[in-house]
Amino acid sequence: MLGPLGGPRLLLRRLREVMAEPISPQERLDKIVTHIAANMVAEVCSVYVLRADERLELFATEGLNRDAVHLTTMRAGEGLVGLIAETAEPLALADAQHHPSFSYRPETGEEIYSSFLGVPILRGGNTLGVLVVQNRARRLYSEEEIEALQTTAMLLAEMIASGELQSIGLPDEDIALRRSLALQGVPIADGVGLGHVVLHEPRIIVKQLVAEDLKKELERLDTAIDAMRKSIDSLIEDGDMGPGEHREVLEAFRMFAHDQGWIRRLREAAGTGLTAEAAVERVQNDARARLQRQTDPYMRERLHDLDELANRLLHELTGRSMVAAHADLPDNSIIVARSMGPAALLDYDRSKLRGLVLEDAGASSHVAIVARALGIAAVGKVANIIDLVEQGDALILDGATGTVHVRPTPDVEHSYAEKARLRARRQEQYHKLRDQPAITKDGVPIEINMNAGLLVDLQHMEETGAESIGLFRTEIQFMVVSKFPRMHEQEALYKTAFAATGGKPITFRTLDIGSDKVLPYMTKVEEENPALGWRAIRIGLDRPGLLRVQLRSMLRASGGRNLRIMFPMIATVHEFEAAKVLVEHELEHLARHGRAPPADLKLGVMLEVPSLLWQLDEICERVDFVSVGTNDLVQYLFAADRDNKLVASRYDSLSVPVLRALRRVVRKADAHKVPLSLCGEMGGQPLEALALLAIGFRSLSMSPACIGPVKAMILAADAADAANFVTALLDTPEENLSLRGALHKFAETHQIPV
Ligand code: PEP
Ligand code: MG
Repeated sequence: MLGPLGGPRLLLRRLREVMAEPISPQERLDKIVTHIAANMVAEVCSVYVLRADERLELFATEGLNRDAVHLTTMRAGEGLVGLIAETAEPLALADAQHHPSFSYRPETGEEIYSSFLGVPILRGGNTLGVLVVQNRARRLYSEEEIEALQTTAMLLAEMIASGELQSIGLPDEDIALRRSLALQGVPIADGVGLGHVVLHEPRIIVKQLVAEDLKKELERLDTAIDAMRKSIDSLIEDGDMGPGEHREVLEAFRMFAHDQGWIRRLREAAGTGLTAEAAVERVQNDARARLQRQTDPYMRERLHDLDELANRLLHELTGRSMVAAHADLPDNSIIVARSMGPAALLDYDRSKLRGLVLEDAGASSHVAIVARALGIAAVGKVANIIDLVEQGDALILDGATGTVHVRPTPDVEHSYAEKARLRARRQEQYHKLRDQPAITKDGVPIEINMNAGLLVDLQHMEETGAESIGLFRTEIQFMVVSKFPRMHEQEALYKTAFAATGGKPITFRTLDIGSDKVLPYMTKVEEENPALGWRAIRIGLDRPGLLRVQLRSMLRASGGRNLRIMFPMIATVHEFEAAKVLVEHELEHLARHGRAPPADLKLGVMLEVPSLLWQLDEICERVDFVSVGTNDLVQYLFAADRDNKLVASRYDSLSVPVLRALRRVVRKADAHKVPLSLCGEMGGQPLEALALLAIGFRSLSMSPACIGPVKAMILAADAADAANFVTALLDTPEENLSLRGALHKFAETHQIPV
């Protein structure tokens, strides 16, 4: 194979010894290049490290002029070294000086060397530097030599990642791995988090690169591949999975685990003298570097599959469980994950969590729902975050803007620390308002209720002083479990909810599934237009079995208490009547089984489909209450997907058409003396809430974090003044259709905090 000095295995062993020596980083690097040059029978070996300013700096050399160390730098893309950094691919040339990218640097004295072999120093698919050997004679480097140099580069990657080299570069120049980064993701849950990175599934750091016994390593690799395949088989054959998209994804995943090309590459890597673990990492580094430059979403998805397979293999090889150890979570932890199941976040000690950053998941993912419920600042869709951070790195996330600062500079850290302090102070002020009734300056009481979806949310009731749970999104409990909850489980859940609110009313909304709210264990129906499709009460009425089980559980749980149930997405009076018939059947069933009925039962609708705006008289005659779901109502009024950024920001909820529609609802509900509330996000924004109380809303339901700011607004507002102001604007059509600007000014002049 390689030169006379014993090939790559011996080299790696030598280098390992050098790594362990108690010498300075520069001395270590100098020794490393000398060993590599000798082992590869090359006259030159040089290491270039990528700096934060994107320049490659010569850090050590054997054979070139040593005075050029920490002096010679080049841009990515410049010269052969720059080309390798840019393409992240090896380059072997017999006649380097005639390559179009060759760039002559007189200070290095490299003009006498003809042949050139360079490989990128990769970690997690990112280029950290370039490792080069050169020979005077024209020669072709063999595949084995290229492989050997790539393997050696892994060791250098480890050294760079350790931060050890930071101190020996040019002063004031950070090496790329440690630089500060500002990354942009999408906001998931509001709040500012300052802390240190805790990787959700820590990458296994492969320490032992060199195989002691080649045959044994191949056997270990084969055994691990076998065990990993079996674990994937049992995952799929787990009875609860059922058909559907889930199954397809897993079947594709299983196929990858059997991919012959992948297995061959792994075995070849192990054949070069690596341990099985190092072989897995080697192959995965290459795959990542190749695929990261892919823009095709299908190919990128495959990268995640390969990543998970590699991770599973490493876990098999090291005998560690796939579940991260959550036991000793440090204070101020920020969990960083590629993606995460909804329950995983609940396993962490909340008192130590400061934030969550996700690479793949967006605002509507299940883990996002849980993060919001727990009040943990979170940002999603942060590209490559896993590869850009190390365990323990300082990190700041801003859940309002979606910005993530990795290894922030002191000034960024300072300004965010200030922001966080301010927030905490404001929270404290809101807390003081907790027991103060929400009454406007002119004496109009406004009922403030809270939205909830998980049992953990209910604890906020006490903290915020909410009068009731105005919207309990029951589907969220269904989304975070792996199979459809049985009746006794649902009953227990609703009982616990009753107990947790200490007698304050809860308005349970029946299952609002479909569209973006998919239950993992239900077959997904392919629809062109899911938001306009088979969802919420439509599923409930077409599959009454599901709805009846839910109603039965609620009735059983409520024995002797007040029960409020509302139905989502009601589009016609008839749909409400049909739902009511189901409730009546269930009441009879309850009586037949000798169970106590609720002390009082109120049935209502969510007004979120515009058709109901023209059936207000009829619906008001039939229901006990109405709750307006503005999130959906506004999206349907404007025919603009609420989750599609391209259109969602085009239409304002404070525009004339929305407020006129809502004012009609208030007038009709008042005329019929039907209790009216509003539970969309709009009610939780102080400025929007000001408009709502101006047009006559007297009850709002919102997420817990919104209660303080909205109450502060109410205490400072005069309802009659606001009503006059808004009425005038709604009755005299203006060119500018949104009231936002005018209302802002109104709030400012009247010193209303919004
Ligand atoms: C709404 O549509 O306004 C609402 C409160 O329901 P959800 O956000 O759960 O669709
Ligand atoms: Mg809705």
